[in-house]
Amino acid sequence: MIKIEHIGIAVNSIAEAGIVYQKLLNTGIYKTEVVDSEQVAVAFLQAGLNKIELLEAAADESAIAKYIQRKGEGIHHIAFEVDDIYKEMQRLENEGFMLLNEKPKKGADNKLVCFVHPKSANGVLIELCQEIR
Ligand code: ZN
Repeated sequence: MIKIEHIGIAVNSIAEAGIVYQKLLNTGIYKTEVVDSEQVAVAFLQAGLNKIELLEAAADESAIAKYIQRKGEGIHHIAFEVDDIYKEMQRLENEGFMLLNEKPKKGADNKLVCFVHPKSANGVLIELCQEIR
């Protein structure tokens, strides 16, 4: 693991939460994107070295919609940047972590991603991400 790549926050509305986070971090949203595979719309803000990802459900059956129904808005996941996602997935699997993806998939912001089940990480959904080179 290289560093925390971003923190994902589940929100009802990027339009509304975007205003709050732009004020909070005193910076603009630099990118918005819809990730079809996850049925989610995302917006990114950069605060110094740190990146925040706002996630809004793009469909009722989206995991973000279900998450907000259960828990409300809030921190949804922590993403770690890795150098070699295949190697890291293998390592975590060997360590007994439950991976939510068999293979890395294309995530937002030009990344290959894989999620680790919160049940195997003390209640925190973990995302591994590797820049697509
Ligand atoms: Zn993320």
